[in-house]
Amino acid sequence: MTALNDLLAGLATGAVEIVDLTSPLSASTPILQLPPPFANTRGFSLTEISRYDDRGPAWYWNNISTGEHVGTHFDAPNHWVSGRDGLDISQVPPRQLVAPAVVIDRSAECAANPDYLLEIDDLRAWEAEHGPLPEGAWLLYRTGWDVRSGDQADFLNADETGPHTPGVSAECARYLAEETSILGMGTETVGTDAGAAHSFDPPFPCHSFLLGAGKYGLTQLQNLASLPPTGAVVIAAPLPIVGGSGSPARVLALVPR
Ligand code: MN
Repeated sequence: MTALNDLLAGLATGAVEIVDLTSPLSASTPILQLPPPFANTRGFSLTEISRYDDRGPAWYWNNISTGEHVGTHFDAPNHWVSGRDGLDISQVPPRQLVAPAVVIDRSAECAANPDYLLEIDDLRAWEAEHGPLPEGAWLLYRTGWDVRSGDQADFLNADETGPHTPGVSAECARYLAEETSILGMGTETVGTDAGAAHSFDPPFPCHSFLLGAGKYGLTQLQNLASLPPTGAVVIAAPLPIVGGSGSPARVLALVPR
């Protein structure tokens, strides 16, 4: 089939580059911290079963333990109460796991203001330069926050008033959910919403509006700086956890060079 041969030829020559947008998954991967009385996710851990020893002389393997929403992960619509009747993570159609992606870069603004919020005017400015948001595309929101992902405290950036990480205004989240045909939103932070979004109206508007509209979320992405504003294709592959609300995912971008 010509299209697939062209893709393989592009990969061989470097005309198509694969950029890994996935954070390494380990016991030190940062995780969300909700205040009391809310329950929190466990982090990622490995427990050795055997390692070429009496427990299994020729093989090494581990059990893993993780929350669904740990590290680079995919939020399904049923993660939020507004999407409770929506798809679970195993029901996301495979056809939607390969999709175009566009990147909006507000890393300079977020470096100056960790509470920076994406607004509708930011989308309009992007569209004036690059054209309409493509139908069925991931909107990847570059904040520069991935450089902090090696350290939980730096990544969550919390003080006595709570976490301070960039996000999206409630008005912009509603607009993205109701007035665009994006597939979902991808961020570099611990979740798709701002650190201060617990106090927004509604609280956690990205989750509330986007998942409520049947759209998806991708979080803790890395290397968005290596993507063009338009033209990349993202492969986002969550585990098909039956009834699950999300899953750690390997997220790759195919980028034309
Ligand atoms: Mn999540």
